[in-house]
Parts: sequence; C-alpha cells; structure tokens
Amino acid sequence: MERIGLKGRISNYMYDRLADNDVSFTAEGIIILMNYKIYKNTCGFLTESQSWSKEKIKRYQLKKLHQLIKHSYENVLYYKELFDKNGIKIEDINDFNDLQKIPFLTKEIVKKNIEDLKSINYPKYSFSYLTTGGSTGAPLGFFDEKSISYVKELAYTKTVLDRIGYKYKDKFVVFKGAAIPSVEKGKFWKYSSFGRSLVFSSFYMNEKNLPRYIKKIEEFKPQYIIGYPSAITILGKYIKNNNIKKFKNLKGIICGAETLYKWQKDFLEEIFGCRVLNNYALSEQVVFATSCEKSDDLHIFPEYGFVELIDKNGRAINCEDKRGEIVATGFKNFIFPFIRYKTGDFGIYTNKKCECGRNCLIIKQIEGRKQEFIVTTDGRQISMAAMNMHSNVFDNVKQFQFYQDKKGEVVFRIIKNSLYSEKDSRNIKQELYRKLGKNIDLKLEFVDEIQKTFRGKHSYLIQKLDENNYNSNR
Ligand SMILES: [Zn+2]
Repeated sequence: MERIGLKGRISNYMYDRLADNDVSFTAEGIIILMNYKIYKNTCGFLTESQSWSKEKIKRYQLKKLHQLIKHSYENVLYYKELFDKNGIKIEDINDFNDLQKIPFLTKEIVKKNIEDLKSINYPKYSFSYLTTGGSTGAPLGFFDEKSISYVKELAYTKTVLDRIGYKYKDKFVVFKGAAIPSVEKGKFWKYSSFGRSLVFSSFYMNEKNLPRYIKKIEEFKPQYIIGYPSAITILGKYIKNNNIKKFKNLKGIICGAETLYKWQKDFLEEIFGCRVLNNYALSEQVVFATSCEKSDDLHIFPEYGFVELIDKNGRAINCEDKRGEIVATGFKNFIFPFIRYKTGDFGIYTNKKCECGRNCLIIKQIEGRKQEFIVTTDGRQISMAAMNMHSNVFDNVKQFQFYQDKKGEVVFRIIKNSLYSEKDSRNIKQELYRKLGKNIDLKLEFVDEIQKTFRGKHSYLIQKLDENNYNSNR
C-alpha cells in the first residue's frame, strides 16, 4: 500500500478542518493547491467532454461502468457476494441493458453493509466519513476519498460556473447551512478559498439582521451567488421590499440542495438581473446535473455517473413526460461504490435535445426534495436543507422528524436504536441548537414509529403553522 506524502497529509489535515465546520480562512484554497493537478485535469476533461457526441458519451459510460463493476467485484465484499449469489459475471455486463441484472442498492442496504461496501485496495487514511442530510429519512453514513472527491466536486462546480461567464479571480457569496463561529458578535459570515468566497449563515436572515447581510455583500462585490434557493429568495424579497439597488457585478446565481421552483427562478432573475441556474447533486456523489445557458431542464453530467429513470416496477423509463425514480451509478467514488443506487428522488423523462447542443441525458424536473422551514419566535426561517448536517451525533438514531405547530417551538422525534443513551440526547440537543440558534425551544420526543407520506416517503418536517405565523418574507 502506498504511503501518503507530505502534500497529501497537509491536504487531508485541511480537509478535516473543513469537515469540522470550523473552516479556516484558507483551508479550501490549500486543498485545491495541494491537489491542483487533479483539479486542473478534471476541469480540462470536463471542458472537452461537454461537446461529445451521443456515441462518444455512450462509449465513455460503458467503459467506466465496466471499470467500476470489475473493481467492485474484485475489491468490495458486498458486491462480490451480491454478484456470486445472483450468478452475475463481470463479462456478462456489456451494455446498459445488462446493468439491469444487478439488483438495486438502497439506503437500507448501505446502512446494513457500510463496512462491506468499502474498497479494500485503498489505504485507511483515504476514507472520509460523510452523512447525508436525510431529507427522506434518517441520515445515511458512507465514505468518499478524502480531499480528492472534494477537489473533483469543485471542478464540476467550476464547469457549471463557466456556463455563466466565470473568470479567474471572480468572487462568490455562498448561502448554506454552515455554522459561523462569529454570529454572536453579529458577524453572520466567514471567508474561505483565500478570501474569494464569503460564506453566509442562512439561519439568521430576519428583518433585523438582513441590512448587515446586504451591506456586507455590497462591500464584497461578488460575481456569483451560490446556495439554497429559499435563502436567496429571502434575500431577494428583502431587496425588493426595501427598494435596494441591484448588486452591480453579479453574473449569475446557482441554486442547489432544495427544489428551485419556477416562480422562484423567475423572481430571482428579475430582482438580481442575472441568469439563475439550478443544480441537482447528492451527498452520495452519484449524480450531478445543472440547467444550461438555454434551458431550465437539468442536464445530467455523463462523466459523473450513469443515471436511469425507473418506474415502480423497476423498469427503465424512456417515454416523454413520464415520471420515474432516479437510480444512479457513480463514477467518481471507487472507494465506496454506489451501483444502481435508488436515490428516492423523482424526475420527468424527456428525449428532446437541448438548444445548447449538449448530448447528455436531460431530466425536466426533480421532485422529492421539499422546501420547508422551521420558524423561530423572531421570524427566522430555517430551511430543512440547512439541517443537512455532516455529523455522527445521529448514529444511534434510526429515524427522526421535526414537528412544529407553534412558532418558536419544535419537537424533534426520534426512533432510537439499541445503543442510544442519555449522552446521545445531550449531543443531539447541542448539535441542533448550534444549527437553530436562539429563539427556538427544542424538545426531544421518543417514538416507535414515524408516519410516512402517501408516496411512502418519510417527511423530514411536519410543519403546521398557518400563514399568520409565518414571517412576511414568504
Ligand atoms: Zn442545454
């Protein structure tokens, strides 16, 4: 097994600082520098592959599928056993139809087989533990390749930015669920990437604090805004209601992690006077899709993974306008392979070619991620996407759900596992308060069952506030 070099050590150390949510000013920048070659090569590859023909995309994806399946059979115990049990031979998987011989990978299977899904041919220090936010149930733990996966992800984001005129040294404002250490002092932001990006907390955006947000953005003069559509919408509404001038240098907005509604996209384009792109990506890193220069439909990056739309009987969908579950096989993460992973998200199939000329698979609309809020007594709206915590404090929680029927009060329902103890309750409360901040009363409630929606999905938040209880921002 190869030894990690000095560069790798520094990069991994910085990555851990990043994962701590305690990002130092330069952590992200240093990770890029240390892995610059990978970043640069990925960017170069993606620039070229955008113009590939359908045939070339197909050849590339088949090659990657073959590599991934061979690697998984040889190095990942779960797949070795699965293939042997089902009589699947690597040489039998020669086209996309053959792929259907492989049973789906579900969140439940990942949860039960986390150790057996790790590739044995990677050194220990390469594994980085992550969790999903659990918008459709309890958070899911898995691994990716420390630093490397992160840098590759940045290369994909850069390719998206290129669609809206990115230039070296452009600056970003980011709205997401990051914990900002200085909020108590009224500083709702922190710098990262050598100061080129200004990360704002999406938790404190109320009437009282928004003037400070606006002032800071005006001083910073960003070219791009990236983040939760709900948070950027709150900012936009405030700008509109208070007749604040448009930000001067803005070239584009990229929304992600939540559904971007059509009304929101139109509203944001009007208020900010720039193009708004929609991005769909999962923590599990199996699918990455973005709208383009010409269309609001989601263009799936074929380099990132292979995506199937599946009907309720598990069959592939290829009829115009038909809705199906997104099942994805990721090419990026060989360290913990996701093959035919059922994402729980739904998309609408289309076979129409986009005016932009790209030949990738296009999905019209993503359903499954709701845009929901917890409301504090002072009217702050905390998006469920912001509760996507990369934390292991929920390891002993089987399922959870927020319940709110009174402004400023929220109940956190928990289905415990057998290892759950008083210590977990303390840690969970501490972690949630860190995210929720003040002016909210949080209670834990232990339950045996959490009711599912009519689609059989788990709702992350049951929110029963009426319009009057909601802030005027909506
Ligand atoms: Zn297009």
